[in-house]
Amino acid sequence: MVTMPIDVPELVEQVLAGSRQHIARALTLVESSKPAHREKAREMLRRLAPHTGDAIRVGISGVPGAGKSTFINAMGGKLIDEFDYKVAVLAVDPSSTRTGGSILGDRTRMGDLANRDEAFVRPSPSGGHLGGVARATREAMIVMEAAGYNVVLVETVGVGQSEVAVAGMVDTFLMLSVAGTGDQLQGIKKGILELADVVAVNKADGDNAGNARVSARDLSIAMKLVSSDADKRRVPVLTCSSYTEEGLDDVWQAIVDHRAYLEEDGSLQVRRTEQQREWLWNMVRNEILESLDTDLRVQQTAERIEAGLGTEATSALEGAEEILRAFARAVPNLPWA
Ligand code: GDP
Repeated sequence: MVTMPIDVPELVEQVLAGSRQHIARALTLVESSKPAHREKAREMLRRLAPHTGDAIRVGISGVPGAGKSTFINAMGGKLIDEFDYKVAVLAVDPSSTRTGGSILGDRTRMGDLANRDEAFVRPSPSGGHLGGVARATREAMIVMEAAGYNVVLVETVGVGQSEVAVAGMVDTFLMLSVAGTGDQLQGIKKGILELADVVAVNKADGDNAGNARVSARDLSIAMKLVSSDADKRRVPVLTCSSYTEEGLDDVWQAIVDHRAYLEEDGSLQVRRTEQQREWLWNMVRNEILESLDTDLRVQQTAERIEAGLGTEATSALEGAEEILRAFARAVPNLPWA
């Protein structure tokens, strides 16, 4: 928990200096939805923001069991050892909002990486809706970049909505697939493949290596089908093994190439500006929804109306109007007003 009072200038200074203890505190602060914390968080982020923007931001998705943690563990170690990067791992797990715990970004599943000085692994924030989790993660990225982490990996699970949220905060989206799970077809159905900038078929080792190559070829064909734009960059489909580390270099190269491609034709800036626009509206919507959910007077009105719904004393239409009026009355006293 965040212990009050929070000295924002001190926290900012320590985060910029890379203090792990303060980074953890800053992350806890952005994960809180308490109005007093939000105010401090905004002040902190305003001061940290000028120190961000240079990191390589990568989203990583795949169905549970695709090998995301194993991949991140291996790739993260490589990036530190061979490229001298500092690696931050964040996670967006919508199920954590229900279970209160996250299977993503779990330190125990990335033990080697989490124990390194050059890495920082943070599990998905819990509580609230996906919008809230995404907001916290987006802000956590600012903290990590300002603290000097020049690669930020954002892990998410392959279920659709969370991919869209993560795609909205990274430069390059890597989809991890495995041969024989049929997830490539599910991926097409859910439109996840459309979000992918790089695809890698993981577990291409031992007896599985051949299947992985076949799967990569099938996926490559599928990728052409989902892309209607003939001029569009061809999405590379590679194979790799997080066990033997074979192919990991090529996957990283494809990520770097994609970023270079974005920078070359100016679309990195366009993409980031568009992401800013999305975040702007996300934040406005989030604040309104959160106030609607938490304001006591609105809640009291809502409870009364909900209780009356079955009895036909209140119709949903009238009830909605009444709740909105209660909200309108509450607005002048809300923290953001
Ligand atoms: P996640 O749920 O996507 O994070 O998947 P995990 O990283 O937990 O991996 C799921 C299972 O696949 C574990 O038993 C891993 O040991 C195994 N696994 C992960 N990567 C590889 C790989 O490259 N090759 C093989 N053979 N198994 C792997």
